[in-house]
Amino acid sequence: MEASTERPVVALVTGIGAYHVGVIDGAARVLAERGVPLLVVAVDTFESDRTPEVVLDLLRDPGTRGVIALADAAVFQRADLPVALRGSGLPVVTLGIKFGDFPCVVGDNAAGMKALMVHLLDDCGARRLVLVRGTTGHRDSLERERVFRQECAKRGVAVDEDRVIEGQFRAKPTYDALRQLLSEGVDVDAVVALNDPSAFGALSALTDHGLDVPHDVLLSGFDDIPEARSGWPPLTTVDQRLGEQGAEAAIRLLALIEGRAATDLSVPSRLVVRASTSREDVTTEEILSSARSLQARVTQQELAVQISWDMANCHTLDDVITALEPCLTQIGVRRCFVAITPQPGSSPFEEDGAPGEAVANRTVLVFAFRDGRTDPVTGEVFRRHEVLPSSLHREFDEGPLLLQPISVEGRERGHLLYEINSERHVLTEALRIELPRTLEMVFSSQEMKDHAAVLERLVVRRTRELERVNAELRRSVMRDGLTGIFNRRAFESFLEEAFDPVTGTGRQLALLMIDVDQFKAFNDRYGHLAGDEVLRTVASCLEQAVRSDRDLACRYGGEEFAVILWDSGVEGALALGRRFRDLLAAAAIAHDVSTVASVLTASAGAAAMTVLPGFDPAVLIASADQALYRAKTEGRDRIGVADGAHGSLRGQTRGSGTRRVGGDDADGTQGHARHPRVLPAPRDGDAESLPGPHQAER
Ligand code: GH3
Ligand code: MG
Ligand code: MG
Repeated sequence: MEASTERPVVALVTGIGAYHVGVIDGAARVLAERGVPLLVVAVDTFESDRTPEVVLDLLRDPGTRGVIALADAAVFQRADLPVALRGSGLPVVTLGIKFGDFPCVVGDNAAGMKALMVHLLDDCGARRLVLVRGTTGHRDSLERERVFRQECAKRGVAVDEDRVIEGQFRAKPTYDALRQLLSEGVDVDAVVALNDPSAFGALSALTDHGLDVPHDVLLSGFDDIPEARSGWPPLTTVDQRLGEQGAEAAIRLLALIEGRAATDLSVPSRLVVRASTSREDVTTEEILSSARSLQARVTQQELAVQISWDMANCHTLDDVITALEPCLTQIGVRRCFVAITPQPGSSPFEEDGAPGEAVANRTVLVFAFRDGRTDPVTGEVFRRHEVLPSSLHREFDEGPLLLQPISVEGRERGHLLYEINSERHVLTEALRIELPRTLEMVFSSQEMKDHAAVLERLVVRRTRELERVNAELRRSVMRDGLTGIFNRRAFESFLEEAFDPVTGTGRQLALLMIDVDQFKAFNDRYGHLAGDEVLRTVASCLEQAVRSDRDLACRYGGEEFAVILWDSGVEGALALGRRFRDLLAAAAIAHDVSTVASVLTASAGAAAMTVLPGFDPAVLIASADQALYRAKTEGRDRIGVADGAHGSLRGQTRGSGTRRVGGDDADGTQGHARHPRVLPAPRDGDAESLPGPHQAER
């Protein structure tokens, strides 16, 4: 089959009831004869105060041929719809309600009502009538009441105002009002209800009061809805000829499309006499026909419950798709499509804030059901208001489709499109309500999951960023501004870690302390800037001298530097010190005021200890410091080695340390007293044999 070249006429509705299917069937028939498809569009989504964008898009689309606004939709609950209709420049015909200059087709209440009154007053001889009004102030109710009064007056039948009750076009208020009236002992021979549902309310009230319709009281309705035929007794009513109204609306719209003028029209209603006003005996055929329609209605209601049940058990889109096929087959819907539009940006959870400008152009079909089976979907992307991908546009030619927008928390997420089953419009309506609601639930829970996943990714990314920034920050606070090597802070935190009782215990640590010789004199001679440059060179020599990544070289302060060596005895520190001195010698920085040499020199002190629980790093520092002090006092430009292999304790107890450490004189007693738990590690044989500080080497 060729793809349709005809774009559809759009019929606006707010739901699918007996009125809608009556009108739509009539319009569709006329349009089909002219090869024009009909797309029925529900103009409201549940719980939204705006007309769905897909509807507004359809009205803006130059491809849309014209619009028939049904009575309920043309009441325009939302201001944006009439504005869009006027602004569209499209041919528009309204049904039931006049709107602006658009041609309008209405049902003529008067003809049918008059025929009904003639039937009741003249044929049946009713004289003690009760009038059940419709919605207060409703045009149809007022018109029907006017004819009622007029026809009574003509025959001199007084209208007792106590017998005029308010039914609001609904069963329950009618039931209540009529029960009240009957309980007051009012004598009634006919009840004239101004629509069919209120007639059913009246029927229940009469029956409950022990009155038989039609033998005790006659009963009439208005509209001729399907239940009027299938209830018991079948209801005398007025047929508004809805099909005729729809057909006339379509004829007028086609005229407008072809550039011709169209006038308003009132379609005369006609009386339908059934058993509720006939005192003749009913035939078996009438009883059987009524029983059959009743049975059909019960089945529809059961199926409607089944739809609710099936949909209530769906948690994912896959669940919905799986549940739909049997559901559609059961309710007799031949075609059904579900299209999804990605959510527009603006979600607070959106990862990169990418707005969904092109959202309307990215609708995709996720479910296609035709002639009793689910078709694979192609993933073809289409513009939202095209309703279906172009490969399926011929579906418009196959009979009216109903479009129901799907929205999740006020955001449009796609639409449902399916064939209207006129015979089973209750099910059509149940599907229209249940399926979008289920999809809304599925999407909103899916969105919650998506949002959670996005948030999770966001947290991971932010954490990584934070870690990177933190690491950089740590690096920067751990680095010396002048030389770029580690600073005193890094030295201290490194030592603290090294002395961790869990990870550090049993490991050997060596420390080399370095102090530039006669640096004050250098500064005085060459200037502070040159001094700075020298400090950078010294730092560079020190870094080059370090062999292991695990060792830490730092600027300890001023012209003093330090290196901590992991898993190393004092000989490691000594070797590093030698390499450093060689590099510094090679740098050959002139220092012509030095009393030590003609070039810049440095002195160093080396110490080592094995970490045991409770050991204090200050002991190691003091020990290396003492060794450095020895190197200084013994003539500079040399490396002093701490007395004993395992730090300064032994030296301290011997009273050998005299250099100021941490503001105190680090004599043995005080050192011991400050670090009472510090014990020499007795095992390291190699370290035992190392030279003491007096053996400072040059
Ligand atoms: P000694 O051989 O006994 O170590 O003598 P010294 O002159 O090196 O020691 P002293 O402690 O008397 O002087 C250290 C000098 O180091 C004093 C100070 O001006 C200099 N100094 C400290 N920090 C810096 C710095 O960042 N830049 C420069 N240019 N000089 C510094
Ligand atoms: Mg110094
Ligand atoms: Mg110095």
